[in-house]
Amino acid sequence: MKSRAWVLVEAGKPLEARTIDVPAPAAGEVVVEVDACGLCHTDLGYADGSVAPKHALPLVLGHEIVGRVVQVGAGAESWAGRSVIVPAVLPCGECAFCRAGRGNACPKQKMPGNDCDGGFATYCLVPARPLVSIDDAPAGVDRRELGVVADAVSTAYQALKRAEVREGDVVFVVGAGGVGGYAVQIARAMGAHVVALDVEAGKLEAISRHGAERTVLTRDRAPKDVRKEAHGIANEWRVPSLRWRTLECSGHPDGQALAFALLSQGSTMVQVGYTPTAVNLRLSNVMAFDATIHGSWGCPPELYADVLRLIYGGQVVLTPFVEHAPMSRVVESLDAMAHHKLTKRLVLDPRA
Ligand SMILES: [Zn+2]
Ligand SMILES: [Zn+2]
Repeated sequence: MKSRAWVLVEAGKPLEARTIDVPAPAAGEVVVEVDACGLCHTDLGYADGSVAPKHALPLVLGHEIVGRVVQVGAGAESWAGRSVIVPAVLPCGECAFCRAGRGNACPKQKMPGNDCDGGFATYCLVPARPLVSIDDAPAGVDRRELGVVADAVSTAYQALKRAEVREGDVVFVVGAGGVGGYAVQIARAMGAHVVALDVEAGKLEAISRHGAERTVLTRDRAPKDVRKEAHGIANEWRVPSLRWRTLECSGHPDGQALAFALLSQGSTMVQVGYTPTAVNLRLSNVMAFDATIHGSWGCPPELYADVLRLIYGGQVVLTPFVEHAPMSRVVESLDAMAHHKLTKRLVLDPRA
């Protein structure tokens, strides 16, 4: 089968449109006809060379894939014709991590557009086992938008699970765009009080209409000053710091330093964003506060049903945060992302 693909040939050079061969699916594999693939900041990292993908170049990028199964290998026959999300983290399903419900940490996991060819293409070959069916999506849901569930939305959900967020907790979300924006919506749906913190007033304004009860503008402010304001809000709600959870979603060293500064007695922080830059933190604070810090990577496929339920039920909305664009303009879209000109998550159509 031939696929029209947008290929990273050399880091720092524009992606090239090429026609490539998609191998016939082996046992346990399927070919998905891609309806849409989200454009993630990680793709920009691979494209500009700041992050090296695990697979050698050339490589088809893209890991927020939604589409339809058009070819099946042995044992995957039940997937034929089904509409699916391809999770960004594809665990092996068999190892000790997977059996313990920690498939997102599976050492044998594959990520499309990183370990193997991804979704910036008309077709892609993926393992069947971790796929998530969206055949039951309500009529009002634009299935192409569900591509963002593969990374941005499910990653936020898993991070909140990792933080053991419960009704009545206070959740500080540092970095309120992309993953952070969905973290705000999901935390609110879980019944938590949510404070969104960001350097951009526009992002805070947008998310205040979707679950952030309070917002804190952090631009050009010392972490100590922001800490005082954020803690003041949580204290107004009379929630003890034992029940404060901070999600660091900015992927910026300043955001990481701020999230760390928000720690208090018995509170919990989850690191979700990525930056290659190291930050200087006094880890002794974690000891002194008897605090907890987790990392959270991706989301195990078995949790996607919970995430989809929130979307299908309207508790988490995608449309205001998503913009459709043709895949043929992916180079321009990456450039716009690099220059911070995108305000919404782009969902790319490989047939346009
Ligand atoms: Zn991503
Ligand atoms: Zn595994």
